[in-house]
This record gives sequence, structure tokens and C-alpha cells, in this order.
Amino acid sequence: MDAQYRLDGRMFINGERVDAISRKEIDVYDPSTGQVMSTIAAGDTGDVNHAVSTSQKAYEADWKRFTPSERANILFSVADRIGQYKEELAYIESLDVGKPHKQALADVDAAIGYFRFYAGIADKIFGTSIPLGEGIADYTIREPIGISAQIIPWNYPLQLSSRGFAPALAAGNAVVAKVAEDASLSILRLAEIAHEAGLPKGVLNVITGYGSVAGQALSDHPDIHHLTFTGSLNTGIQVMKTAANHITPVNLELGGKSPIIIFGDADIDKVVETASNVIIQNAGQTCSAASRIIVNNKVHAEVVEKIAEKMSKVKLGRGLDNPDMGPVVSERQMNSILQAISNGRESNANVVLGGNRSKQQGLENGYFIQPTLFDNVKVGSFIEQEEIFGPVLSVMPFDTADEALAIANGTEYGLVASVFSNDLKLVHHMTNQIQAGQVFVNGYGAGGGVAIPFGGYKKSGFGREKGLEAIQNYTTVKNVWIDYR
Ligand code: NAP
Ligand code: MG
Repeated sequence: MDAQYRLDGRMFINGERVDAISRKEIDVYDPSTGQVMSTIAAGDTGDVNHAVSTSQKAYEADWKRFTPSERANILFSVADRIGQYKEELAYIESLDVGKPHKQALADVDAAIGYFRFYAGIADKIFGTSIPLGEGIADYTIREPIGISAQIIPWNYPLQLSSRGFAPALAAGNAVVAKVAEDASLSILRLAEIAHEAGLPKGVLNVITGYGSVAGQALSDHPDIHHLTFTGSLNTGIQVMKTAANHITPVNLELGGKSPIIIFGDADIDKVVETASNVIIQNAGQTCSAASRIIVNNKVHAEVVEKIAEKMSKVKLGRGLDNPDMGPVVSERQMNSILQAISNGRESNANVVLGGNRSKQQGLENGYFIQPTLFDNVKVGSFIEQEEIFGPVLSVMPFDTADEALAIANGTEYGLVASVFSNDLKLVHHMTNQIQAGQVFVNGYGAGGGVAIPFGGYKKSGFGREKGLEAIQNYTTVKNVWIDYR
């Protein structure tokens, strides 16, 4: 696919594209070639202050005054308009992140799904009536929180922005987002499209710039009322500390080291298909990626052989050429994955497949990593414990269900887990004991639809995105007590 859409890296504030007040810019790289392809504005504290102040005005003067069904209608229009620009959005996302174009198209569909789902909920955010006896009326109202600040990572920009924007807007809040410097372009265009669809100016502002500058300024802003952060554990810790300065409530969606547990009676072909696809998707840069295979010794050899065979057939290429797997997002990310692989080798894990930067002709300058499979990984070692965020899969064998559970629950994360077995009692035992926000049985896929709640146990974070649960993040409860005796 040839370049056919303009890349505009200016911020989107108060209904228009703007440069940073400082006029500074940041280069944007094509991860498939390592070449500069565009720039984005290097927003800083001044831009953040401007964005927050216009969103406050828009919230008070406009969005708060719309009836819930008016908000619903606008959000349905946003969903429709995203659909009209599906090709453009997918093109930008595929180019900027490096992901296969077909994946980017699926991401646009997910974005549409979020806006539709929460448009449908906008006029169904009910309070409750609490019976306290004759003469007293007591009821609750779910009010919008106000200004919702959202800090978004680079791996699924369209999906993750829509996951936060749609419920926040549906509940009546205004949004100020800081997007990742490695993948800002698709979200900027999304915000523009939402405005064109009828979202009043200032209700959704998007700031670009460095995390340590613009992200820090947004999380430390006294006039935001809530902060949704999706990103790494270390930045999450930093952001939560900063938000504490103003008692700003936070929602943290952090990393994962999610397992697939395979018992001896599992459907091996299904689990092999699932496990190899999940770690290849978005070149393994998925918070919910299953990066650990915990497999019963009875089927261990067969599973490793079949996963290796599938992963060995994965075709690498530029995202827009629709390969099975594209490059990783940046040189920094590539180097961090290669470092993790070298840690794996040092811990004497057995490299069954891959383990290097791709040497494929034509891809030398892009950030391509070979799909990598480690077998007999030592429990407790770096690659078994730490999120690698690349196409790197670790296999650990077990004998008993308790051993499998101990390995599954033995990291500081708890985002997603999966169990493959048809033994009803065993499956229930496992789903009860696993510490993760989502447990799949005989399947995998954190996508799984907009309607199901998603979020972490332990250091994978807290609060829930998606589904009806997300509305809790973006509303606050007021109780009203009336004495009419
Ligand atoms: P990251 O480095 O933590 O960055 C996340 C966001 O925070 C980016 O927008 C970043 O901006 C910004 N940021 C960086 N430093 C900041 C600071 N001091 N104050 C405020 N904001 C700051 O994470 P990433 O590498 O982009 O994303 C990968 C991580 O996200 C992985 O750990 C993954 O598991 C996690 N993730 C979780 C979920 C989930 O739903 N649980 C979903 C997707 C990803 P810049 O990039 O411009 O520096
Ligand atoms: Mg990029």
C-alpha cells in the first residue's frame, strides 16, 4: 500500500490543530525502516494548562448541559464517522505502530465498538433509591467527575484511547489525553473526527509530547478530577505518586506476564493455534499477551514442537504490506527485547526458535525481531518474571495442578490467565485460585468484546475498563437525603 494519507502531528486542542506554544517538535520514525516520516508537537506544561482550561470551559458551558440522550446521539455519530474514515485511521495506525494493516483495521472496528457501546449507555446511568421509612426520601445520583485526564501507551492507540474516551464522554466528562510520543498520529486524527461528528470543541483535547514533560504536567495538574493511566508498572508508580499531590483518583492499567496453563487432556491443536497467535499479535506488544506457557509434562514435548513449527512459519514485513508480524514500535523497544532475550540465554533456558533481530533482506533497518521460543525456562528467572513486551514466549513444564498454580500466580502481575482442560472440577478449581482480572477457559483473547470488564490484580493495576464497570471510573456518587415529614 502506498502512502495516501497526510500525517498531521499537531495537537488537537479546543477543536483545532495547534503547534506547541514553544513551536518545538519531535521526530516520528517509521518502525519498518528506521526513517523519520513525520513530526509531532512537543507539548509541555503551557500546552497542558491551555488544554485543561479549554476543557473546563467546554465541560461547564456545553457537555454538562447536554441531556444524556443528546450525548448518546453525538457518540453514535462519532462511531459512524470513525467508520467512514476506517481506511485512513488503519493506515496511520499501521504505519506509526508497525502493526499489520489487517490488525489496524480490527483496531478501528474495536474503536467503533467502544463508541457504540457507551453511546448506548449514556442515558442509562442510573442511581438508586434507598428506603429509609416514611417521611424520608433517599436516592443516589451518578454525576460525572469533571475533567478526565488520560495517559495512553503506544501499543494499541486507537483501541486504548477509545476504551477510555467513550465511557468518560458518555458519563458526561470532558477528556484531556496525553498520547505516547511513539504513536500519537492515529489518536489525533480520531479526536478530529469526533469533533467533526458533533463533539463540541474542548470536550476532547489531545496533547502530544514527552511523557516526562507533558505526561508529568497533566498528572500533576490541580484541575483534573480523575486520571486513567495505561502503561508500564514503573511509570504507573510515578504517576500515582504525582496524582497524590492533589488527591486525584487514579485508574491504573499496567503490565502483565499472563500464562496459558495446558493440562494433559487439552485440545492440543487449539491451544497451539491460540498460543502462537497471541504472542505474535502486535509483535508481542500487548499488555494481555500470553507470554508464559505452563504445560503438563505429559504433553510438553508435543506442545513445544507444534508451537515452534507454527512460529517458524510467521512472515515478517512492513505493517502496510500485511505480514503475519510487523516490527516492534521503536529502536528502544527492540533493544529492550534483545536484552531480555540475552538474559534468557544466560539463565540457560533452551532457545528453540529465533532469539535475534531479523536479518531478512529488506528489513535490516527496521525494528524486526524473530519470533522467539524458550523452553525449560527456570521459574523465577528474569524472562519468566518480567514483562518483555515482544514476540518472546517462555515454556515451563509441570506435573501437578498445584505446581501449575504456583507458577501461574508466581509473578507480581495478574492481568489475564487461561486454562486449557475439559475436566470440570479442575477447571473450576483453577479459575477460583488464579489471581488475574480475566480468566479464559479453552480460549484466550483480552479483546473478547467491549462488554467484558478488564483490569488487573496485584501490580497489573486496579480499577476496571470496558463493560458497565468502566462507568464507575468516570462517575461519582452523590447521596441525597430529604426529610418531607
Ligand atoms: P510507558 O512508558 O509507561 O508509557 C505510557 C504513557 O505514559 C505514555 O503516554 C508515556 O509517554 C507516558 N509517560 C511516560 N513517563 C511519564 C511520566 N513521568 N508521567 C506521566 N506520563 C508519562 O508505557 P509504554 O512503554 O508506552 O507501554 C507499554 C506498557 O503499557 C506495558 O507495560 C504494557 O503492559 C502496558 N499496557 C497496559 C495495558 C492495560 O490495559 N493493562 C494496555 C496496554 C499497555 P511517552 O511514551 O511519550 O513517554
Ligand atoms: Mg510510531
